[in-house]
Amino acid sequence: MRLDVLGSAGTYPTADRPASGYVVSAGTTHVLCDAGFGTFAELTRRMDPDQLDAVVLSHRHPDHCVDFLALHHALSYGPYQRRGLLVFCAPGVEDRLADFLGAGEGHVFFDVFDFHEVGETNHVTVGSIDLRFAVTSHRVPTIATRFEAAGRSLAYSADTGPGGGYPELCEDADVMLCEASLEGERDDHHFVHHLTATEAGAIAREAGVQKLILTHLPPSLDPERSRSEATSVFGGKVAVASPGDVYEI
Ligand SMILES: [Zn+2]
Repeated sequence: MRLDVLGSAGTYPTADRPASGYVVSAGTTHVLCDAGFGTFAELTRRMDPDQLDAVVLSHRHPDHCVDFLALHHALSYGPYQRRGLLVFCAPGVEDRLADFLGAGEGHVFFDVFDFHEVGETNHVTVGSIDLRFAVTSHRVPTIATRFEAAGRSLAYSADTGPGGGYPELCEDADVMLCEASLEGERDDHHFVHHLTATEAGAIAREAGVQKLILTHLPPSLDPERSRSEATSVFGGKVAVASPGDVYEI
């Protein structure tokens, strides 16, 4: 299995760092996981959008899904014939995107995509990749996703605060791709729906994962500090995701 980082910036993008977006691949199967600000252009550097087998949208916050609208425009109005592309998402995502497009009955949006709302009871297979989900602790309904192929596993947090279903989803994963929106000590009064790097490291240690990749660091954070804070708790290998990174899992 392969993880290709399109973007990793938390909250908002910068010139060289789009917001959250990844491609998870196994053989010829490709799943786009989140589509934050700036990630569609990065996707087109790697593949034609009609090569995707499915899309996962973790939640309706724009830094995770707004470039799905660019994917819609490419597939609907570009040269591609693709219809019925599978989309697995948290409740509320399809309605939000359809609203933005003004997509009423009969709109091409509903031909191009085949939406499925998923939660912790769903288990789906896309080509050679199995996907399971957990509901995270966030401000709006949000799903974390575990990808498995050929005995290897990747657990992606999406956005989450402490608690929720993500820690269990990570159990014995080969790679944990986890948000770390915060540095230093937790402030109980702010940002309770995101994790510190230390908390990400603690989840990795408890779950017994092999490798931790931190992501969703806002541009104002120091990645080396985050990596160091997570490492001091986890004790294993910690990386910080950057666009262009490719991880063989
Ligand atoms: Zn969010």
